[in-house]
Amino acid sequence: MQEVFCLEEASFSAIAASVVLWALLKARLKESSARTLINRKGKDTMNVEQTLIERSNNQCELCGAQEELGVYPVLPSDGSEDQSIYICETCKNQIENPENLDRNHWRCLSDSMWSQVPAVQVMSYRLLSALGDQDQLDMLYLEEEVKNWADQGLLTSKTTDNTTALLHRDSNGTLLAEGDTVTLIKDLEVKGAGFTAKRGTIVKNIHLTDDPKYIEGKINGTQIVLVAAYMKKSN
Ligand SMILES: [Zn+2]
Repeated sequence: MQEVFCLEEASFSAIAASVVLWALLKARLKESSARTLINRKGKDTMNVEQTLIERSNNQCELCGAQEELGVYPVLPSDGSEDQSIYICETCKNQIENPENLDRNHWRCLSDSMWSQVPAVQVMSYRLLSALGDQDQLDMLYLEEEVKNWADQGLLTSKTTDNTTALLHRDSNGTLLAEGDTVTLIKDLEVKGAGFTAKRGTIVKNIHLTDDPKYIEGKINGTQIVLVAAYMKKSN
């Protein structure tokens, strides 16, 4: 009897000891795997940048600029090099503020849209869509899954979507259309033509320019570019 009791007691404390050991081991394991995760992540970020520098030849993958370059994830992105592009600060600012897209800057898309890199194709597609450049979009062929990716993150501005951002509006925010008649709401000095177009002047048959801020119309027989925000649509 005595012997059995002792054995039981011994195995009980052995179990207790191993429970404590297990808890310690578990805590240690957790700590070290967290550390590995951090290390791996830091290393990955460096690798992504390094890979992108090589892929892009250290140039902006959209406009070719060689300064202020950085990794930009093409959302939705897992942060890998395949789902990121290497672009300059100007391109990045434009992409993040698509209501102010500069058409001159984005002439570069006619080159970058032919990139072999799907992430660059996706961003080119989104920019061409935001610019409403249907001619280029018609030429841009995307594999089905690349097209799906592109469609998941079309560029939209914070207040309006990209279609309305490209529309011409008068001083009241009323949409202007080709051929409309507008009235000037303030005196405008017409540089180079030597006259001032007076407030209240009616401009018939206006033409919409590529830039939503401007329209064209004839005043005193001269075709001039007018700021849409200084016009009021006539009914
Ligand atoms: Zn750029």
